[in-house]
Amino acid sequence: MKNFLTRKRLGATALLATAALALSACGGSGTTTPGTESGPSYAVAKDVKLTGSPTFDKMKSNGKVRIGVKQDQPGLGFKDAATGEYSGFDIEIARWTAASLGFGTDKIEFKPIPSANRESALANGDIDLYVGTYSITDKRKKLVDFAGPYFITGQGLLVKKSNDTIKSEKDLAGKNVCSATGSTPIQNIKANFPNTKTTEFDTYSKCVDALKSGTVDAVTTDQAILLGYASQDPATLKVVGEPFTVEKYGVGLPKGDTALRTFINEMFTNGGATWTKIFDSTLGKSGTKVEQPKVDQY
Ligand code: GLU
Repeated sequence: MKNFLTRKRLGATALLATAALALSACGGSGTTTPGTESGPSYAVAKDVKLTGSPTFDKMKSNGKVRIGVKQDQPGLGFKDAATGEYSGFDIEIARWTAASLGFGTDKIEFKPIPSANRESALANGDIDLYVGTYSITDKRKKLVDFAGPYFITGQGLLVKKSNDTIKSEKDLAGKNVCSATGSTPIQNIKANFPNTKTTEFDTYSKCVDALKSGTVDAVTTDQAILLGYASQDPATLKVVGEPFTVEKYGVGLPKGDTALRTFINEMFTNGGATWTKIFDSTLGKSGTKVEQPKVDQY
């Protein structure tokens, strides 16, 4: 953890956010809502009126909200194989959003969707929302809309504990680095690290397997994600260096649904106490306090 505190390029919020990860796939011990075993509870809004939102109309007629998530990112979006229970910071942000729209946990359908398929899933109407380490970028904004940001982190590196040659992104020349197809980190490596070889999978957990088996030298993605993997196997894995990009997480929405975007942005703006509860019960379990980022109502 000590590395993150010396970070120069990121703002204070990002610094604290990355430093604060408690590295647990389990939720907190707060009051439970029906259908969840852990994490805070949320008041399910009644008689929500949201005019001019085709996505909300669809949720109402379906009687449920379909939320795209990650299922293999401990601490953020993780599905317990034994119980089928989802947990993590992103999952709680999704549950909070659903409750604000009038949908309790029993009215949420989580759909695991990998990084490369997020824009198409939203455009095709396969999901109503996406909450899964989804960076707000100008390129993606051409295809989808974002509410938020609700969290800030940055690209980092995961290596084997025994590795003493890769200490930061400056040591990647001639190395084979793994990341997820369609992600901002793989795009950054391809664009700005011409002497670095890349390996791609649809998910980061496959990259972690490749790292453990020695097929690749490092895994790169958001440090918040990498810390989750390192925490699951600290004897084998470590996060090195400092975040070298800024990744702002947004809730992905179908393009043009401004009413829904405004609604969720207001939820974030007015829901500081809930945000803090969510953070404290997931990524912040180490006890570190983090500021919620300010919403960017573009
Ligand atoms: N936040 C980055 C992205 O949206 C990396 C994590 C991910 O692939 O979900 O591409």
